[in-house]
Amino acid sequence: MAEIVVVGGGLSGLVAAKRLGRTGHTVTLYEQGETVGGRVRSVTEDGYTFDRGFQVLFTAYPAVKEELDLDALALKRFRPGATLVSSGERSILADPLRDPKALTATLFNQNVSLRDKLLVLKLRRTLARKPLADILATDDQTIEDYLRAFGFSSRFISNFATPFYGGITLDRSLSTSAFVFEYTFKMLLSGSTAVPAAGMGEIPAQLATQARDVGVTINTESPVSAITTGDNPAVQTRGETVAADAVVVATDPASAEKLLPEFNYEGSYRGCVTQYFSLPDTQQLRTDGRLLLNMESGYPNQIAPLSAVAPSYAPDRMHLLSATFLGDPAETDQELAESVREALESWYPEHNFAELTLLRTDRIPFAQVTQRPGFRDARPATDSPQGGVYLAGDYTEWSSIQGAMESGRRAARHIETAFP
Ligand SMILES: Cc1cc2nc3c(=O)[nH]c(=O)nc-3n(C[C@H](O)[C@H](O)[C@H](O)COP(=O)(O)OP(=O)(O)OC[C@H]3O[C@@H](n4cnc5c(N)ncnc54)[C@H](O)[C@@H]3O)c2cc1C
Repeated sequence: MAEIVVVGGGLSGLVAAKRLGRTGHTVTLYEQGETVGGRVRSVTEDGYTFDRGFQVLFTAYPAVKEELDLDALALKRFRPGATLVSSGERSILADPLRDPKALTATLFNQNVSLRDKLLVLKLRRTLARKPLADILATDDQTIEDYLRAFGFSSRFISNFATPFYGGITLDRSLSTSAFVFEYTFKMLLSGSTAVPAAGMGEIPAQLATQARDVGVTINTESPVSAITTGDNPAVQTRGETVAADAVVVATDPASAEKLLPEFNYEGSYRGCVTQYFSLPDTQQLRTDGRLLLNMESGYPNQIAPLSAVAPSYAPDRMHLLSATFLGDPAETDQELAESVREALESWYPEHNFAELTLLRTDRIPFAQVTQRPGFRDARPATDSPQGGVYLAGDYTEWSSIQGAMESGRRAARHIETAFP
C-alpha cells in the first residue's frame, strides 16, 4: 500500500482522500484553512447559519448520490421553479410536472409566453432523454445561443434565463457553455435543490468524517508551501518535509500554479457578493420557498428566502434572506444593502422593510472558473502531469459540487491504477 498526500480539503480533496483511504492506502490531507470545505463552508452566529455565498445542492448529481449520505444531511428543499419579480410584479414559473399545484399560476404567468412555456416542456423531454455522456460531450455553444437555437424568445431569455442561469453560472450575459445549462437543467428535472438543515458546511464535514473513519489523517491550519515532483515526491508543510508515493494537488487553480511551477492555468474566474438580511416574522413574505429572480437588473440578481426553506437557518421569529450580486460590484456594503431594500419594497409593496437588517456581506472574488464554450477541451491534464503528482479540483472537470467530487474520484482512480 502507498503513502499518499492530499493537498487541499475542499470537496475534491476530501473525496480523493476518502476513496484512497478506503482502498487501504495511508492518506494524509493538509488543508491551509481552519476548517475543511474550501469554497463550501458555513458559520453560525446568533442563531443564524450563513453559507459562504448562496449555494445549493442538486441531489441528482451522480457523485453526490454516491459520495454523500443525503438522509444524514437532513435536507431542506426549495420548491421547484421560481418567482419572477420586477417593480410591482411577482409571477410564478414552475414545472407543473414536479409541482402540480403551481400549474394554474404558471399557465397565467404573463411574463413568459405560452409558446415559451411549451418550449420548456419540449426541452424537458429532450434533456430527460439525452444521456449524461452525450451532454458531457457537448461544449460548443453559449447558453444564449443554445436557447435561441431551441426557439426561445428574447423575453424568455431576459425574464427567466438571465437571472436564473445568471445565478447558476454567475454570468448574466449567458456566455457560459451550454454544457453547464444542459447538465444542470437535467439535474433540476430529476432531483431536488436543497440545503442541509445545518448549512452547506455539513457537506464537507460529512466527507471529513467518512475519510477519518477509513483512517485518513486530516490536518487543518497546515498550508503546503512547496511540492517536490519526480520519482520521490514530497511536500513541505509547517517546516517539515513529508515524503509520499503520490501527491494529489486538490487546490484552487491559482494555488496549484504556485505549488507546481511548471503548471500554468490559462483560465479566469467568476465571483459574486452575497449579503444576508434578517427580517422580523411580522412580515410574512409570500415566497412559497422559491427563489426570487430579478427580471429587471442584477441589483440583486436573486434573493433566496433561506429560512422559509430551512427554518433552522434563523432564530425563532426571524427570517433570513440572502441576496446575491454577480461579479465584483464597486458599491459599498451599505449601498448594495440599500439596493436590496429598494428591490424588496418594489416587489412587495404591501410589506414594510424598515426592520430589514444587513447581517453579513461575503465578497467572493473566486467562486467558479469561467466556462466559455470549448472550456472542456482546454482542461489541464490530470494524470500525473509532473511525476508523482495528480491534479484534482473543480477546474479539472467543471465548477460545481459535482465537478469537484468527480475530480477527486478521478484522481483516486489514477492512483489506484498506479498503486494497485
Ligand atoms: C458563492 C459560491 C456559490 C456556488 N454555488 C454552487 C452551487 O450552487 N452548486 C454547485 O454545485 N456549486 C457551486 N459552487 C461551486 C462549488 O462550491 C465549487 O466548485 C467546489 O466547492 C470546488 O471544490 P474544490 O475542492 O475543487 O476547490 P476548493 O473548494 O477551492 O478547495 C481547495 C482547498 O485547497 C486549500 N488550499 C489551497 N492552497 C493550499 C495549500 N497551499 N496548502 C493546503 N491547502 C490549500 C484551500 O484552502 C481549499 O480548502 C459555488 C461556489 C461559490 C464560492
